[in-house]
Amino acid sequence: MSDNNFLQKKRKKTNNNNNNNTEKKKFQEKSNNEMLKQSEKFISECKKHPLSITFPSQPEIHPDSKCLTFTIHKTFNKARASTLTLPHGSVPTPIYMPVGTKGAMKGLLSCDLERMNCKLMLSNTYHLAFEPGDEFLKQNFEDNNNKNAIHNYMKWNNNVLTDSGGFQIASLTSISVRSEEGVEFISHAENDNRHILLTPEKSISIQNNIGSDIIMCLDDVITPISSINEIYDACERSIRWLDRCIKSHKKKDMQNLFGIVQGGIDLNLREIACTEMEKRNLPGYAIGGMAGGESKEDFWKVVDTCTNYLPFNKPRYLMGIGYPIDLVVCSLLGVDMFDCVFATRTARFGNAFTNFGLRKISKEENKYCFDEPIDKECDCEVCKKYSKSYLYYIFNKNPRGAVLLSFHNVYYLLRLVGRIRESILNEKVNEFVEEFVSKYYGEKGCPQWVVNALRKAGCDVRFLEQFPKLNDDYESFENEN
Ligand SMILES: [Zn+2]
Repeated sequence: MSDNNFLQKKRKKTNNNNNNNTEKKKFQEKSNNEMLKQSEKFISECKKHPLSITFPSQPEIHPDSKCLTFTIHKTFNKARASTLTLPHGSVPTPIYMPVGTKGAMKGLLSCDLERMNCKLMLSNTYHLAFEPGDEFLKQNFEDNNNKNAIHNYMKWNNNVLTDSGGFQIASLTSISVRSEEGVEFISHAENDNRHILLTPEKSISIQNNIGSDIIMCLDDVITPISSINEIYDACERSIRWLDRCIKSHKKKDMQNLFGIVQGGIDLNLREIACTEMEKRNLPGYAIGGMAGGESKEDFWKVVDTCTNYLPFNKPRYLMGIGYPIDLVVCSLLGVDMFDCVFATRTARFGNAFTNFGLRKISKEENKYCFDEPIDKECDCEVCKKYSKSYLYYIFNKNPRGAVLLSFHNVYYLLRLVGRIRESILNEKVNEFVEEFVSKYYGEKGCPQWVVNALRKAGCDVRFLEQFPKLNDDYESFENEN
């Protein structure tokens, strides 16, 4: 069967479960074969040109943005307290962006985020392309005088950033096939055999229809622990795709295209990718491909390298990172924007962020905490109103339990980046770091990577000399689960 017929056949939606399973299985086989072919190609190419890297000699240059300003108010070494002004208002940075995958967060409404004073949230192109669908959003856009498509749809007046679908190349490998043209997905949903060929042009066109304030280039995402040949290949391809994204972006006066630095944990490659990014004069830049199994020591070094080489006067966004300690360390290394689903995902498992590490609400000891909130230092609606005992009792019996914990966790991260910002503005960074790290790890001690990264960020870490040193992969919440 020709490839064309194969795809045509699969594009016919069927409601038959058995057929669906066969379809998905066939697609997965195709995906595996394609990956095998590609890795054979990598190896033969690398034998010819070991780890050579070439980028287009004439990069696409983005015009200066007319719909983004980035004002740096104060710095502490590489860390900055800034204001990012976008079409839907100003955003104080550093900022954490909550994730509303299909235009809605799990458990929280837009009005909840507004009450938390959240100014920028994230939504996913891949998911929106399937539901409600590209054509639906395009129509919504046109019905609203060419503005506010996603904002109007989800009743959110503040800013939206959409990812490009690149992350799903890495997270949905079994239902995607990658080529130079783009990546073909079959829907992840059960009983849905729809396909989408996500090319750089298609990703930008969908994001143009979505109407988000910041749109991301389609990048070839692989995990940082992939082979070096794959990392070089994906990094090169990401730059070629970036040029296609810049060329096809139709709404440069309304939406800001960010480039994404790839390069795994190879610091030289990250430096080269940053230099290529800068040539293209984009409104902002992201560091992608992290949190994929690399060590924490490699993780902070990649962030540190990228913030050394990305332009000083443009916003920098670290994709998919959202543990409290990561927000502190990476803000101090010069990152301005973060996003992560962990805050709401871990809430659904009954875990709450606190200044003293993650706490599991279903622990027996919480039964009797009638007068104590989740975090006595938190001033969110949940902590002001409800005791740990109340949350303990409703968590397993009522879906509102996960909603209340999600509210607290998102608020906690928004407040945390706000505290980092205040400490930069008030020249109290060292005081903030000492208070935060001492409480977060307590007497258990602090991982060496945190000490190393904070020292590199220019913080006074003498207070940590007395702390016991924990394994680098230790997270403050591991012992709480
Ligand atoms: Zn709270």
